[in-house]
Amino acid sequence: MSAPVAEHVLASAVVQPEVLTGFSGPDAPPWEVINTCVHCGFCLPACPTYKLTLRERSSPRGRITLIKAVAEGRLDLMDPTFQDEMYLCLNCRACEAACPSGVKYGELVESARAQIEAQSPRTLRVRSARIAAFRGVFGSSRRFRAASAGLRLYQRTGAQRFVRRSGLLRRVGLAEKEALLPELSERFLVPGKEFWPAEGVRRGTVALLAGCIMSTAYAEVHRATARVLSRNGFDVIVPPGQGCCGALAIHSGDLEAGRAAARANIAAFSSPSIDAVVSNAAGCGAAMREYDFLLRNDPDWAERARRIAGKVRDVSEFLADQGLVATPGPLAVTVTYQEPCHLVHAQRISRQPRELLAAIPELQLIEMPESALCCGSAGIYNLLQPEMSSALLERKLANATSTGAAIIVSANPGCMLQMAAGLRSKGVQTEVVHIMTLLDRAYAALDVTAAAAN
Ligand code: SF4
Ligand code: SF4
Repeated sequence: MSAPVAEHVLASAVVQPEVLTGFSGPDAPPWEVINTCVHCGFCLPACPTYKLTLRERSSPRGRITLIKAVAEGRLDLMDPTFQDEMYLCLNCRACEAACPSGVKYGELVESARAQIEAQSPRTLRVRSARIAAFRGVFGSSRRFRAASAGLRLYQRTGAQRFVRRSGLLRRVGLAEKEALLPELSERFLVPGKEFWPAEGVRRGTVALLAGCIMSTAYAEVHRATARVLSRNGFDVIVPPGQGCCGALAIHSGDLEAGRAAARANIAAFSSPSIDAVVSNAAGCGAAMREYDFLLRNDPDWAERARRIAGKVRDVSEFLADQGLVATPGPLAVTVTYQEPCHLVHAQRISRQPRELLAAIPELQLIEMPESALCCGSAGIYNLLQPEMSSALLERKLANATSTGAAIIVSANPGCMLQMAAGLRSKGVQTEVVHIMTLLDRAYAALDVTAAAAN
């Protein structure tokens, strides 16, 4: 089928009887969610792909109409426009936050992608690459650390500098993708190997999600997070047996790989002594909060998934809601705050990070325009949809640098990598810093002041 068929569907939007024919199996986009959309269009101004294209089919309402048409058998699942639109969507969930009818758009697009992946005649090469990535490398934290160690060697031995200077990457069209590689930490965070006891009066025990990229590229952000939590009265454990949250696989339509990751994490975090499962990566926290939906049809895991999902907190949300008992030291810096989509839209956390920033004496927060607009990172979207991703990154950096702030604060590894790479390519000195690193710096400043006074 050709693109005009999808256009025709958008123009007609015929209401059909509730017989689902285009999707199959228990992972079909839920009909009750499709049907919640009343086509009011309130979500359109919030949607990054609609903002940039002004095309109805690239809007949330347009995509829901397409999903409904496939569900009703009026549009083929293999229709190229349908597939393009499912993957041009960033899954940023800005539409969900804007929707007055409570349409759970994320459930629709993730289910639709899973249907495409299950029924697409992918080449053996593509299938093998997906299996190797989602079930091989991301499916085991041991293998992920081994792959990261190889990458660290490439970065530290000078091989990266040599390859970049040789022009080889540009010749094979990989220069921009390679520039997005995170700089690997000197010492990875290995679950089960580190523990931070509560300082002062003990308020509880939290379990930190180590994740994949966070534990190898941002291990120091994890340690900063643990120090901040410990300063505020919490024992911090990193339970063994945990791994990647599964978000990358889920967003790419490999629900089985996502479910395997979810089961491993549910088992790892199931101790009743854990008061909260804390994540400092917005995308991972959002994925874990939705383990109950992911495993809803699995009788052995559904209840356990619901229990763990209910314990997950983003670290900013957790600290702001519990209250800081240790006052941070002063940091005389100007910062602007970039809201990760999966924090502000998927988890609806916007007030708490700002409260934490306000708790740092002498820090000045300068709000950027469109702070909640996607930066274009969106998991591996920046690799798969480079044009749309670059346009969004340009807009984000223009908004952020217009504030003149010295630091862009964020709370998600993908956004941090994307913005840092964009700034580097422009030669702009603005630093990109995780909010927990900033708080940790503020507590360290307090220690320096106290030491000087003694
Ligand atoms: S998703 Fe929500 S806001 Fe968007 S058109 Fe449907 S009902 Fe309206
Ligand atoms: S998830 Fe984001 S990109 Fe996709 S339709 Fe919603 S607002 Fe648009």
